[in-house]
Amino acid sequence: MPVLVDTIVSLYEFTDADIASLESTLFEQLRLAWLEQMRALAVRHGVANPTPTLQGADLERLQGKAREDALSIANTYNRELRNQVEAIYARNPGITRNEMISILESWGRKRDEYKSIQVALAIVMWAVYYGLQQFVIHNGLFNELFEAVGGTPVCPICMRIVGDGIVSYDYTVANPLPAHISCSHEYYAVNPQDLARQGVAIWVGQ
Ligand SMILES: [Zn+2]
Repeated sequence: MPVLVDTIVSLYEFTDADIASLESTLFEQLRLAWLEQMRALAVRHGVANPTPTLQGADLERLQGKAREDALSIANTYNRELRNQVEAIYARNPGITRNEMISILESWGRKRDEYKSIQVALAIVMWAVYYGLQQFVIHNGLFNELFEAVGGTPVCPICMRIVGDGIVSYDYTVANPLPAHISCSHEYYAVNPQDLARQGVAIWVGQ
C-alpha cells in the first residue's frame, strides 16, 4: 500500500493513549454499574444499608472486561478506517493528501464519538448480569427464581427469553443477557429471600 494510505490512517487511528483513555472510561462505567447492581440486590434481599466493595477477583474481571472492550472497539474502528482509506485510494490513485483528509472529515468525528463513550449500554448491562451471577454464587441463592425485564423485546432471542417468564438460575446461566448490542434486558429476582432476617452474612463484594 502507498505511503499516503499509511499516513492518513495514522492521522485518524486510535493510538495506545486513546485506548488507555477509553479503557478507563469503560472501567468507570462498569464499576458504577456493578456497585449499583450489588446495592440493589442486597436491598432486595433485606439489607437496609448495603456497602458493596469492588475488589479481588471481581475488580480484576471488570478491569479485564474494560481492557478487552477498549481493544475491541479500537481494533474495529482502525480496521474500518483502513478499509475506507484503501477504498478511496483504489478509486482515485491520484488523490492528494488534502483531498483525502476532506473526504475523511467524518472519521475524525466518529473517532471522537468512540473515545468519549459515556454510557456504553452493552457493558453496563454486562456488569448487571455479572453482578447478579456473583451475588447468587457467593450467597448460595441457586434456588431463586428470575424473570427477564427491560421492555418489549425486538429480537428473537429476547422474545424467547422474556416469553419464558419465570425461570431458574440455571436458565439465566444458559441464556446470558444482554443478548445482543443495545439489548436492555436483565434478570430480576422475583422471590428474593430476606437474608437479613435469616441472620445470614450477606456477600456484597468483600
Ligand atoms: Zn434484549
